[in-house]
Amino acid sequence: MIRSKAYAAQNKTSGLAPFELYRREPAADDVQIEILYCGVCHSDLHTARGEWPNTLYPSVPGHEIVGRVCAVGSQVRRFKVGDLAGVGCMIDSCGHCHSCAEGEEQYCENGFTGTYNGPVFGGENTYGGYSQTIVVKESFVLQIRHAADDLARVAPLLCAGITTYSPLRHWRVGPGTTVGIVGLGGLGHMGVKIAHALGAQVVLFTTSPGKIADGRRLGADEVCVSTDDAQMAAYANRVDFILDTVAVPHDLDAYLSLLKRDGTLALVGAPAAPHPAGNVFNLILKRRRIAGSLIGGIRETQEMLDFCAEHQIVSDIEVIPIDYINVAYDRMLNSDVKYRFVIDMASLRDA
Ligand SMILES: [Zn+2]
Ligand SMILES: [Zn+2]
Repeated sequence: MIRSKAYAAQNKTSGLAPFELYRREPAADDVQIEILYCGVCHSDLHTARGEWPNTLYPSVPGHEIVGRVCAVGSQVRRFKVGDLAGVGCMIDSCGHCHSCAEGEEQYCENGFTGTYNGPVFGGENTYGGYSQTIVVKESFVLQIRHAADDLARVAPLLCAGITTYSPLRHWRVGPGTTVGIVGLGGLGHMGVKIAHALGAQVVLFTTSPGKIADGRRLGADEVCVSTDDAQMAAYANRVDFILDTVAVPHDLDAYLSLLKRDGTLALVGAPAAPHPAGNVFNLILKRRRIAGSLIGGIRETQEMLDFCAEHQIVSDIEVIPIDYINVAYDRMLNSDVKYRFVIDMASLRDA
């Protein structure tokens, strides 16, 4: 067994503190990664604080993992020691259901294994990226083609990047389409960058006028302050697709009415309480849809990483030491981060 320093929550209210865990020795098809950086996702906070059901303690969050390969099993072909590598939200799935067969492991009908808090459907707990090293089977490890200097800024692509890329691709956003991105946080700022790189006309919807300049800098062609009814009315029936990243309950009708006929409002933020139900007339009069989307499959995650490397897309981040994590969670709740915290795992050596 491989001993690794980590940070864990022991219960809902403990906060995160130093912890020690063990990884398996790499099997023939395993890759061992020395973790250099790990992004901080809202799901980490929800899980560590037990705000979603089923948190298994101790809980070691972290599913935006990047680092260097430090060992490989005898059957590993795509990685060698020293390569950059990443691990996202999943480390395994059943491999034989319809979704897995189609490369959509995130929708595995038998339940994928999460990188942390994995065995919702049984088995031992899994420990995520707030740790020095992780062992993952090769088929769930991603290749990173960005420059090594960009590594910290690449970490958030593993969750925030794929969560926005997958629906933008699924609903065929590109040249000639007008896409709305709702919210400019960890997810939204990636949505703006990726939609811009896909060639769409990008409209950022934000409640804060203070984010107009940043929205434009990140790639929005237009910014609409969503609390201003006149600005919102100007977009009625004009938008092809809206990606809604906001994770607190809000009025969906305000956005549904902006969609053209056959337009889709896709939700990727996960509020703890439901949104108020939309007005059905807003759907049927223009055959509009409300949809949801969950991260992306492994093949598509690799495609996203390669797309971002090619277009020089990385996340805007604030690098923190691991002992700052509890403060970072509180700041994240106040949207006080531009736009993602990333833990420098070198800080764990002395923790
Ligand atoms: Zn996440
Ligand atoms: Zn499956």
